[in-house]
Amino acid sequence: MHEIHIGEDLRERNIEIAEENRKILRGNGVVTFNLMSAPGAGKTSLLVATIPHLTDKHRIAVIEGDLQTSRDAERIAALGIEVFQIETGGVCHLDASMVHSALHTLDLESIDILFIENVGNLVCPAEFDLGEDARVMLLSVTEGDDKPKKYPLMFTESGLLLPNKVDLLPHVEFDLEKARHEALDINPKLEIEEISCKTGSGIEAWTDWIERFCETRGGS
Ligand code: MG
Repeated sequence: MHEIHIGEDLRERNIEIAEENRKILRGNGVVTFNLMSAPGAGKTSLLVATIPHLTDKHRIAVIEGDLQTSRDAERIAALGIEVFQIETGGVCHLDASMVHSALHTLDLESIDILFIENVGNLVCPAEFDLGEDARVMLLSVTEGDDKPKKYPLMFTESGLLLPNKVDLLPHVEFDLEKARHEALDINPKLEIEEISCKTGSGIEAWTDWIERFCETRGGS
């Protein structure tokens, strides 16, 4: 029982800090996206494929969450983008206080869009509000089409699902229609755009989604 109470306290504290983050970010006109997926689904590759399409109209920054190493952060920094690296040291998700510390370092007045790349994990990240405006989930077709029913919270909490690596569909056992139906069963409001970071297919639809989201948010 004792442990459960500690867990609830932590969760409530996380919600408070997330709300504070949201207030700070919105107060500075920053639109924030939390990218979540299993490891290797292509979150960093998505950012690398996306950011060059946005930089003529928007000022971008990235918070890069990883268990270990700054490899992903270096790939993003190579685009000339401000990156704040959070090495969680084994913690399987980002939480609002980790993001809060990044907000003190980033120059928020000079940022229009902030991407937060969460730690690769299909479970824990979905439980932690970071103060983002929207959650975007990647599902690689190499992972299997049974993921929506097995990890429903991630699908419930996301506003947009990006099935990635669709160029590999001819080579893998992945029923995209089944995954789509099961995801929509769990979350009927979920928007879905198929993409391939490798070929670039669907990237324009995804950047259009970002533009529409920013417009309705009254952001940049
Ligand atoms: Mg990554």
